[in-house]
Amino acid sequence: DRPIQGVPLHTTTPPDTTNLSSSSLNRLEGKIAIVTGGAKGIGEAAVRLFVKHGAKVVIADVDDTHGSNLANSLFPSATYVHCDVSIEQDMDNLVTSTVSKYGKLDIMFNNAGVLGDQSNSKKSIVNFDPDEFDMIMRVNVKGVALGIKHASRVMIPNGIGSIINTASVAGVMGGLGPHSYTASKHAILGLTKNTACELGRHDIRVNSISPFGVATSLLVNAWHTSEEAEGNNVNLPSHEEVEKIEEFVRGLANLRGVTLRSSDIAEAALFLASEESKYVSGHNLVVDGGITSTRNCIG
Ligand code: NAD
Repeated sequence: DRPIQGVPLHTTTPPDTTNLSSSSLNRLEGKIAIVTGGAKGIGEAAVRLFVKHGAKVVIADVDDTHGSNLANSLFPSATYVHCDVSIEQDMDNLVTSTVSKYGKLDIMFNNAGVLGDQSNSKKSIVNFDPDEFDMIMRVNVKGVALGIKHASRVMIPNGIGSIINTASVAGVMGGLGPHSYTASKHAILGLTKNTACELGRHDIRVNSISPFGVATSLLVNAWHTSEEAEGNNVNLPSHEEVEKIEEFVRGLANLRGVTLRSSDIAEAALFLASEESKYVSGHNLVVDGGITSTRNCIG
């Protein structure tokens, strides 16, 4: 603990750059954002990071308990609105109420998504379930399309905006998720490209993010059902479940010593939401430790 040449030891520690954006300037100062699926997981991490960077955030979700608890904990920078993204009236209300409260919308993060039933009996295309397909498409694809529609109707008059859609590595390659989920995430990439083309002339950017495995409730529930365990849906994963999944994901990934967390996806969203990415549009930002570009199939 002796000082070196009069300098206390702690000042010789190299600066921690892993959280650089969180400690640098307010990159979203004055911005108004909506985060769908913002009550938990990746959405929650984005809500927290956007608020940290000076944005006012509207959390939209169907999980009213976690959504309003999170909003209360971040008051007055965050509010909660119940919104099922697959219902147009809900999406319309969400965007309309955001603009009446704050006067504008700068960032729309269409992040809500569902994985569907992962149990072994449902995995084969031979057991394809049309009802399950409809449910997944309604939330993952129609929900994103409705989010883009209503965000763009208020962004176009302002001639600025950033729309970010959560896809998945299952939107880039096959063999990583249930058929319907994979189809839905591929569709998000198509929607992103098409709308980036159309909305570009209004200076509205549209991009997607494709995460690999993050130990959220979505993945923990998939893990339960694929293991044919009790399968009762968890609202928030336990510490042990998170560690087990993180270890499993590290075993699949290329960056084996690095653990992918919700906050890493939130950092990607922050980049796409902020001025730093002002010339990036129609892009799919893959956050997967390199797995989709270095392996053909892991499933
Ligand atoms: P999560 O289950 O922790 O969070 C998803 C949130 O979306 C929940 O709060 C849920 O209540 C909400 N939601 C579900 N249906 C909704 C609806 N109809 N309307 C509004 N909200 C709804 O899961 P997550 O991992 O944080 O997932 C977020 C996004 O990331 C999803 O689109 C998912 O497909 C995608 N994703 C996740 C992973 C991963 O490994 N966790 C990987 C790739 C992509």
